[in-house]
Amino acid sequence: MNERPKGQSLVGLVTTDFSSITRGRFVTAARLEKTSQTGVGWVNANISLGPFNAIVGESPWGSSGDLRLIPDMAARYTTHLTGRATPFDVVMSDITTLEGEAWSCCSRTMLREAVADFTRETGLTVTGAFEHEFHLDAPDLPPAHSFGLSALRRTEPFATNLVQALEEAGIEPEVIIAEYGEDQFELANGPADALTAADRAVALREITREMAEALGWKASFAPKVSPDGVGNGVHIHFSFTAPDGGAAAYDADAPGRLSKVAGAFCAGILRHMRALTALTAPSVPSYYRLQPHHWSAAWTWLGDKDREASLRICPTVTIGGKDPGRQFNVEYRAADACANPYLAFAAIIRAGLEGIRAGLPTPPLFTGDPELLTPREREALGLYRLPQTLPEALEALEEDKTVCGWFAPEFLATYLGLKRDEVAKFAATDPKEICETWARVI
Ligand code: GLU
Ligand code: MG
Repeated sequence: MNERPKGQSLVGLVTTDFSSITRGRFVTAARLEKTSQTGVGWVNANISLGPFNAIVGESPWGSSGDLRLIPDMAARYTTHLTGRATPFDVVMSDITTLEGEAWSCCSRTMLREAVADFTRETGLTVTGAFEHEFHLDAPDLPPAHSFGLSALRRTEPFATNLVQALEEAGIEPEVIIAEYGEDQFELANGPADALTAADRAVALREITREMAEALGWKASFAPKVSPDGVGNGVHIHFSFTAPDGGAAAYDADAPGRLSKVAGAFCAGILRHMRALTALTAPSVPSYYRLQPHHWSAAWTWLGDKDREASLRICPTVTIGGKDPGRQFNVEYRAADACANPYLAFAAIIRAGLEGIRAGLPTPPLFTGDPELLTPREREALGLYRLPQTLPEALEALEEDKTVCGWFAPEFLATYLGLKRDEVAKFAATDPKEICETWARVI
């Protein structure tokens, strides 16, 4: 690697599609600067590529048309530590027209615009972090205990190398955990502005997969690698910062410690959550995970430090006089890695902004088991069951005209076409095979 002429290793100009697959084109590091303004070519119909690499039948895009992938030079993720012979080096890119206009199906642009609208209307910025769970398929690993010391140690030097690689790439890994599930792990990283948080999610998944692959292992972020196993969630954390740096989601004296604006934001999310799941839990196996008593998310539910809630107010510590406001955040738990992280976060922000515009009050906080309540009691608490299948979620999306109104018609046509294709493809497949198929892809 060190003998290669300087600047001749490859940099990927990448974009994330609606199945959460990272795709792109490569230039040498020496040419990157030259391509930074006009980017590299891209093809409209690529956005209708399904996760199994065929353009789906129901697509508004045909053989004609061209686009550009424009690298965001502030969003380059590089590490030399994945175990591959050349560095992992990617620049997150926006899809534009040949004239440089934003393209209606560019998810990175959707997130940037959602954040800009939020900031224009509230004066606040959105901070976020994506927390990931994944499974390692590594045949030579001995069995180990949940959260066990040896569960992590048996992977070495994988765990240490992974954290170092993420550190080198600027992803700020905070904790690595051997999780509850068999061969399941978790990575949590530090907060950043919303766009950076989503960029980091893309880079983190790719670096983790590449590193596992270099060892002959397989890392999978799929929502379920087996129907009865423990689910892999992606928990999307959010909070708001005021222009003076103050913690704007926090109010020590309010219910749930949610400021008025954060309460309204959460209310907006819950109001639209059934439709949001089509964007945040967007695959057939996503719904094997979103079940009651799985510590994932099954109801429209705001909870304080409750892992069954779909919106969980996260704990803060005051040890050593630490300021809780600076740590305070809420996590959206009804998401998994089949979701495009830009699209998922954009939809969460847009839903929250609807709540702020409507001046919605902070939703009731709940802890307990919604299934032990009567339907009337649940209704009073705003607890509604989330969709239980992908078709049900797609129906909820199409019925929610507010959510549909956030997007261009060609986006909705593209997205629904992809998802309906997936539903049809797997209609006769048993859940075990569905999980195994997705475990190979995500
Ligand atoms: N594995 C759970 C999920 O599917 C999350 C468990 C936890 O709270 O860490 O989201
Ligand atoms: Mg976890």
